[in-house]
Amino acid sequence: MALPISEAELERIVRSVLSELTGNGNVKAASGRVVHGQSRTVDEAVDAAAIAFEQLSACSLDDRKRFIEAIRATGLKNKELLAKMSHEETHLGRYEHKIAKNETACKLTPGVEILEPKAFTGDHGLTVHEWAPFGVVVAITPVTNPSSVILNNAICMMAAGNATVVNAHPSAKACSMKTIELINQAVVAAGGPDNVMTGVLDPTIDTGTALMTHRKVDMVVATGGVAVVRAALRSGKRVVAAGPGNPPVVVDETADIPKAARCVFEGASFDNNILCVGEKAVVCTAAAIRPFMDEMRKLAIYELSTSELAALMKQIVLADGNKPRMNGKFVGRNASVLLESIGVRGREDVYLLICQVLQDHQLLFLEQMMPVLPVTTAPNVNAAIDLAIEIEQGFGHSAMMHSRDLAALSRMAKLIDTTLFVKNGSSLAGLGVGGEGYTAFTIGTATGEGMTTARTFVRERRCALVDYFRIV
Ligand code: NAD
Repeated sequence: MALPISEAELERIVRSVLSELTGNGNVKAASGRVVHGQSRTVDEAVDAAAIAFEQLSACSLDDRKRFIEAIRATGLKNKELLAKMSHEETHLGRYEHKIAKNETACKLTPGVEILEPKAFTGDHGLTVHEWAPFGVVVAITPVTNPSSVILNNAICMMAAGNATVVNAHPSAKACSMKTIELINQAVVAAGGPDNVMTGVLDPTIDTGTALMTHRKVDMVVATGGVAVVRAALRSGKRVVAAGPGNPPVVVDETADIPKAARCVFEGASFDNNILCVGEKAVVCTAAAIRPFMDEMRKLAIYELSTSELAALMKQIVLADGNKPRMNGKFVGRNASVLLESIGVRGREDVYLLICQVLQDHQLLFLEQMMPVLPVTTAPNVNAAIDLAIEIEQGFGHSAMMHSRDLAALSRMAKLIDTTLFVKNGSSLAGLGVGGEGYTAFTIGTATGEGMTTARTFVRERRCALVDYFRIV
């Protein structure tokens, strides 16, 4: 007598047993079969994602909504685990802030609801625009927010109906692959296909390049610095490039200065300033600098003297190549670690180092990704805005301003031309935390998509019915 069990159900049981057998750590790729996205090679990762894409395409919209809810739920359930793994593996940022980033990604990333169809009706009938998936999307992810970018990308890309292959940063591979494993487990438990998101167990720049140019890959999404953006743009595929920034903040004398100081502190100290949107340099007007510094001194900061800053610059900036760059040893480390490097010990209470500098100081122009914030002065608000534009360097990423002068706020918003511009709030408000709107951890700067959502990862398709179905 035949077993009353479908092939799909049998496969699901085999996968679940395999997963149980391999324990709680990352599930290893079974011989030739990819389980929960854990792939040994680029081809394995792409092939498994391509199969998952076909299976996902056969699922209903309600199924997709359920899978996304399952991803949100597993991200929230495991937010501490993933934060701990990310922190222990990368040594960047702060554990408690990584929990907050995982939570934000799970709660504030929009799902399928953002894919509203468009309709046109008239004398010639009805035309609808709908949003179709691309297929297999490659996501190159950064070391700075490994699990939160992957959770955010997973929700957006799955809501759009795609399957995703991740090439994680080599220094964040274990926590990234764990996130992918949890995502697949959740989708499978919700009745969906396995491998909706796959990843290469041992990612390198070479596997990233191979993925970006793979013939079965339909779209490339690169979140990182200048080099990966350039590599993605060379891939010949449809590209979403979320590149670096150097967000300046302007504070003028009309601002609520205590609030401005609190916001600048919050944004620049969050996760040791490794968020791409975080405040990296402050320009105060001459009339605002003293009250601003007085308010900053009430917070958990350490003010560097001129000689301490000079000593710190020798530690944190490397000038051995063509261009000065930040010393990776100090990227994302606590302020107390930076202080120890110049002989100031025992200051674990400090979250941010600040220093007053001249307008041409090197630190203003480097994306430092460390909790050290240069503050400079300009004679008036227009000069402050002009300097902030120079500091931003045309990355088109993020900028902030604290002012009650509507004309000045409007001037800066227009001229700096960044993807995110936050007025009278911290940079986190631009991500929907303490400000309105949804979140994104991949902000399309170089290619212009802005805060990415499922809408970013779809193709527009039009269907026209001629002469009928205008019902009024
Ligand atoms: P990174 O550029 O060193 O690495 C990012 C990813 O790109 C990694 O997976 C890395 O392995 C890969 N990579 C790097 N060079 C590559 C190349 N030539 N070919 C193929 N792959 C390559 O950046 P990071 O240190 O991981 O992250 C920090 C940077 O990312 C900062 O500059 C930050 O501003 C930026 N970032 C931007 C956004 C955004 O949404 N715009 C979000 C997060 C981080």
